[in-house]
Amino acid sequence: VVELRDVHKSFGSNVVLKGVSFSIPKGQVVAIIGRSGSGKSTALRCMNHLEVIDSGTIHVCGHAIHSPDIDLRRLRMDVGIVFQSYNLFPHLTVEENITLAPMAVKKKSAAQAREIAERTLRQVGLADKAKAYPEQLSGGQQQRVAIARSLAMEPQVMLFDEVTSALDPQLTGEVLRVIETLAADGMTMVLVTHEMEFAARVADTIIFMHHGKVWETGPGTMLRDPQTPELREFLAHGL
Ligand code: ATP
Ligand code: MG
Repeated sequence: VVELRDVHKSFGSNVVLKGVSFSIPKGQVVAIIGRSGSGKSTALRCMNHLEVIDSGTIHVCGHAIHSPDIDLRRLRMDVGIVFQSYNLFPHLTVEENITLAPMAVKKKSAAQAREIAERTLRQVGLADKAKAYPEQLSGGQQQRVAIARSLAMEPQVMLFDEVTSALDPQLTGEVLRVIETLAADGMTMVLVTHEMEFAARVADTIIFMHHGKVWETGPGTMLRDPQTPELREFLAHGL
């Protein structure tokens, strides 16, 4: 359902993606790891047309992202993205945060949207927080609401960009567990993460990006047996 072929992307003279290619079959989880600045977020954002690529092709759920006549509205329905910052609307309740897009974009009735909110909040373990405001929740709970909000659009693919990086270690686990449940339910996902153990456990495939290229790729076990000095160095020292 996801395929990148020879994707190039520069910001001015800064060449960030230098021919990135990979594909993800339906129901599989890919974790992208790599040093700061290696192009992980840019690759993810290109998959949702938040960045426009210079050359190459990207297909996601049948959408040709590189095409000039891409239907962004339908793309955004099929592909959910969650960032490090949760960006919930502070003046709206949890339920209102979640029902907003299904009503505005998918033309769901208020009752239908509330049903969806109830279901997705159950999925992230926050069924009892529908009437709470974001500021009344912990960071981990807010991030789970952000995930529920994304799931409410009933996406085919979910993209996660370091969704636990802003959280205290004790709140990270609850968010990772939600992602793990989604993986078990067969959601196709791309996870940019610094959580190596989690990546090794949950991902079907790990992609190590280095200087804008897919440097090394393999199953979770590749982290125990790196083939390139660059991956070995990254695993030893991080960042
Ligand atoms: P990190 O682990 O720190 O999040 P990353 O692998 O996600 O790093 P990117 O955010 O993809 O890295 O950035 C790769 C390079 O692209 C960096 O040099 C960054 O400065 C540059 N870059 C990213 N976004 C933009 C932008 N909107 N405009 C200009 N340069 C950008
Ligand atoms: Mg990033």
